[in-house]
Amino acid sequence: MTHTWDVVIVGGGLAGLVAANCLAGNGLSILVLEKGAEVGGRARTQRIGHQYFNLGPHALPQKGKAVSILEELDIEFSGKPPKLGGQLMKEGLAYAAPFTLSGLATTRLLQARERMEWAKVLLQISSADPGKLSHQTFEQWVRRMTGSAPVQSLLYLLGRLATYCHAPDLASAKVIVSHIKTVLSGVLYLDHGWQSLIDQLHNRAVISGVQVQSQKCFKQMNTEQHGLFKVILSDDEKVWGRNVLWTGAPLELSRVLAEQPANFPVDPLPAFVPVKGASLDVALSRLPNPKQLFSMSLTEPVYFSVHSNYARLSDDVSSAVLHVLRYYHPEEHPDPKRIRTELEQFLEQMQPGWRNYELNSRFLPQIAVNQRLPQIGDEQRLARFKKSIPGLYIAGDWASPDFMLAEGALTSAKQAAEDIMAKEKRRYHAD
Ligand SMILES: Cc1cc2nc3c(=O)[nH]c(=O)nc-3n(C[C@H](O)[C@H](O)[C@H](O)COP(=O)(O)OP(=O)(O)OC[C@H]3O[C@@H](n4cnc5c(N)ncnc54)[C@H](O)[C@@H]3O)c2cc1C
Repeated sequence: MTHTWDVVIVGGGLAGLVAANCLAGNGLSILVLEKGAEVGGRARTQRIGHQYFNLGPHALPQKGKAVSILEELDIEFSGKPPKLGGQLMKEGLAYAAPFTLSGLATTRLLQARERMEWAKVLLQISSADPGKLSHQTFEQWVRRMTGSAPVQSLLYLLGRLATYCHAPDLASAKVIVSHIKTVLSGVLYLDHGWQSLIDQLHNRAVISGVQVQSQKCFKQMNTEQHGLFKVILSDDEKVWGRNVLWTGAPLELSRVLAEQPANFPVDPLPAFVPVKGASLDVALSRLPNPKQLFSMSLTEPVYFSVHSNYARLSDDVSSAVLHVLRYYHPEEHPDPKRIRTELEQFLEQMQPGWRNYELNSRFLPQIAVNQRLPQIGDEQRLARFKKSIPGLYIAGDWASPDFMLAEGALTSAKQAAEDIMAKEKRRYHAD
């Protein structure tokens, strides 16, 4: 006899584990298939030496949806909010960032009139209704907000900081402005990295009876009689499920569906473009310049922040863990060597002589920060797809119409779990 799972979740990252936790305890049998050796996906934290390295800089919005969902699931976390402030670079010169009252009052980046304009724009953001911005790109929104070039470039920088999207010409204003609002209410750098969330989500799922299997790679899927899905793994093992929740990349799901056109007579999933970046993650025995903790460039799409100043990311208190990140435009085809040199040079400007204190470093030349650059019309595309194959659900940072990053991963995971439970309840009453 073959066992049929009520829910097969593909992917053991944040979305898969949150969905498993939301579903657990409802009398459903749940299997999580993770292709990697460990669960966690892009929220994994690697311990290198005595330091904890997230996969690039990770900041959790303090007042966002993700935090509420984690709290509902009794997931605990600690860490501190980085100070808003630091400096912004423009054509080789450093200016105080006008993100705090003192920064605004003292920065030489803006003239008096531009300061007023910037303060007004920040106020407008706090009261903006992102839902009304679904028909404009972020660039169009920025131009409507202000005609001042310095204020426009500050808005683009804030968009990059909040969402990692470096494509104002393509990105939907709705999602970017919504994230800017959330991030302006504060973020947390987490002690011991985002692995602390993953470990708790994983343990709680297992304790509640969820089967989590690693090194199980989903390869193909067919529909069978009675609405069952036959899932075929890359080692040709077969698994049957009444519902399948996909949390991997949308491009891979498109491939799976395209391989079975007769089985899945649906419009293929649109070819979403991922948001990518390069990250240089560095541990130093000490900071050459302890006062320099955060910087971004107004003219180049780069970011620098010392995360260990706010979160416990090292077993040894004097060392530092920092991230230098390069944002990519989707049409950019960067040369990894050149980008690495760019990031190292930016770090040299911030922390002169850093190499003398280097304990460990890791360069990620091209990593998907979010699996979908949010674009105008994506809400309708996602809604159409969600209705197309009964029993197939999606979650992940790309699968929410309104949010991205962890906000998108967690809200879509919770939504998918609720949809599955509603369907199973209907089936139970019908039987
Ligand atoms: C450099 C960087 C910086 C970031 N900074 C932030 C930040 O500051 N704030 C924030 O909120 N978010 C940030 N993020 C994004 C955040 O890490 C992700 O949004 C989140 O971890 C995504 O979770 P997920 O479950 O949707 O996807 P993933 O973490 O990608 O999980 C999907 C899982 O599915 C597995 N899988 C895929 N295909 C298969 C298959 N065929 N069979 C079985 N398993 C499969 C994968 O191995 C993976 O474990 C950042 C990401 C990066 C890379």
